[in-house]
Amino acid sequence: PTVINQIAAGEVIERPASVVKELLENSIDAGSNRIDIELEQGGTERIAIFDDGCGIAAEELPLALSSHATSKLRNADDLFAIRSMGFRGEALASIGSVARVTLQSRTHDSETGAELQCNGGDFSEIRSWNGSPGTRIEVKHLFYATPVRKKFLKQNATELGHITESFTKIALANTDVHLTLKHNNRMIYEVPAGASLLDRIRIFFGDEIAKHLFPVHREQGPVSLTGFIADPACDRGNSKLQYFFLNQRWFRDRSLGHALQEGYRGLLMTNRYCIGFLFLQMPPEMFDINVHPTKAEVRFIDSQALYHVVRGAIRQTLADKNL
Ligand code: ADP
Ligand code: MG
Repeated sequence: PTVINQIAAGEVIERPASVVKELLENSIDAGSNRIDIELEQGGTERIAIFDDGCGIAAEELPLALSSHATSKLRNADDLFAIRSMGFRGEALASIGSVARVTLQSRTHDSETGAELQCNGGDFSEIRSWNGSPGTRIEVKHLFYATPVRKKFLKQNATELGHITESFTKIALANTDVHLTLKHNNRMIYEVPAGASLLDRIRIFFGDEIAKHLFPVHREQGPVSLTGFIADPACDRGNSKLQYFFLNQRWFRDRSLGHALQEGYRGLLMTNRYCIGFLFLQMPPEMFDINVHPTKAEVRFIDSQALYHVVRGAIRQTLADKNL
């Protein structure tokens, strides 16, 4: 089973940023109000995450680290009803199979917590742990058990860049959560719970971009589109400043990127990218997110209609500004 987990891990856990993304999603799913992350050496030496979410009961710690045992997905019909971020039940098992993991947790209604270690897939016994309610997970020496994969890691600065990208997406999509990110003991981002979406965009992308933004808002049947787009005069656009979220989860979609860009038609100089942070909200029957192991891609039932919603909303927003 360890080998199978290590192979499966390759699908989901490619680099330190994949670990951070999976751990952050779990903490969000656990209803955390505050999540703190500490990294060492671009996450290759150590990734630690602390949350104040619902916690895991002592007897369930081994299940949390076992493949598929705890998947929130109960049957195939649930595929269309997925609202939480995790649903495959293999992220922690994958991480445990390629690193040294310490899992410590305490539920809000238990007197004491418990901890469990997992080294390259081997579990320790469950010990008691004296911590406050919530979950702490420490991941050390990522890929020590799979040297070939370790060789593919880039310089720490590059790995850190991927981590901050994952962190940014989660922080933009969960504006009620306080998040911090430290690297080698230095605070990189501190995002307070009260920070609005626009405040968060300012924290991550700077005031030069934030001051050029204005809000988008459109409801069309069951679909809602909100967020911010930049004044076409803003010359800081690039393809990376086009963010799309579906029901508070970041996703990649070339067609919608095109719709955004087309919404600006005629207003941008040639070869220039517009800027958008767009949040779609729609019922789960309208799409399928289970097409990609890292869930970055979405299949929409009617992608053509959605294209028109996005392009139309952008055109209308710009027209309302007399642009
Ligand atoms: P999935 O999120 O797909 O269910 P994971 O392997 O990511 O699978 O996590 C396994 C299980 O461990 C989760 O379903 C959840 O029950 C539990 N878990 C993981 N992280 C946390 C956390 N931070 N707080 C509470 N429970 C957690
Ligand atoms: Mg998960």
